[in-house]
Amino acid sequence: MKNLVLGIDVGGTNIKFGIVDAEGKILARSVMPTEAYNRNKTSLIKAIFSHLRTLSDSVKISLKRFSAISIGLPGAIDSPNGIVIFLPNIPGWKNVPLRAIFEAEFGIPTLLENDVNMITLGEWKFGAGKGHNNLLCMTLGTGVGGGLIFDGRLYRGVNFVAGEIGHIPINEQGPACNCGGWGCFEQYVGNRQLLEKIGRDFANPNLTIPDVHAMAKKGDAKALKFFVETATHIGNALVGVVNLLNPPLIIIGGGVSHNHRYLFPTINAVIQKRAMQVQAKQVKIVHAQFGDDAGIMGARVLYMEGLGKKR
Ligand SMILES: [Zn+2]
Repeated sequence: MKNLVLGIDVGGTNIKFGIVDAEGKILARSVMPTEAYNRNKTSLIKAIFSHLRTLSDSVKISLKRFSAISIGLPGAIDSPNGIVIFLPNIPGWKNVPLRAIFEAEFGIPTLLENDVNMITLGEWKFGAGKGHNNLLCMTLGTGVGGGLIFDGRLYRGVNFVAGEIGHIPINEQGPACNCGGWGCFEQYVGNRQLLEKIGRDFANPNLTIPDVHAMAKKGDAKALKFFVETATHIGNALVGVVNLLNPPLIIIGGGVSHNHRYLFPTINAVIQKRAMQVQAKQVKIVHAQFGDDAGIMGARVLYMEGLGKKR
């Protein structure tokens, strides 16, 4: 019986594998490091092939039971044509016909999608976005990503790179960004930038974000201020998004979002204060339901919704 989807979530550090059933339940999972194969595209693909076979053997789920292999990748993905256009953080990936490569190897329909879009799909159908037809999903990490669901469809943009919320400029001058622009939102709330801010604001520059969270929990004024300032940046970027798109729901996930207790009240306050009244009244900010699993759940949704099909 064919009813399972094999989800693969390719990240700069790790590649996660999960076998997902029709209800979005992950029946088996495993992980392999990306870095060991980073230098060579072919060796990375071969390593994924062999890892996939090992996983299927070890859990005794035959490859024949997979309706699809569904792969999320960190970059620009031409999903309808099954092509990886470009991966900025994994060298050597430019215009790779990955769908054809997988289908030649396994004979299983293969779907590709951008990793943040995959997370958005997972949260939309199985998580915090359940039942909504319009939403924005934002991930706070080293990079700040976004995925958009409009009228019950994933919105990809004409070149498949829509949703780059991290590169909304929130400052007309501001620091240079690796996207080529400057003053981008990500330059204020990306992980690296937050750690630099901790280095400037605290006596101990080696504190981590969880350390500052623990301090905030104890009522430390500096730590609370750190989160208020971070949330103010997030709120300011979202004011533009809320005014432009009038979404009923914004889902916030990613590592930094674990501090939601100290972030969300300020994010909400900034939106209520600065956004247009009708939009501000409508929008709800919620924490993502899934952590690391969202991308794998999204792999199921990509197949389920008939997205990523051949054009
Ligand atoms: Zn940028």
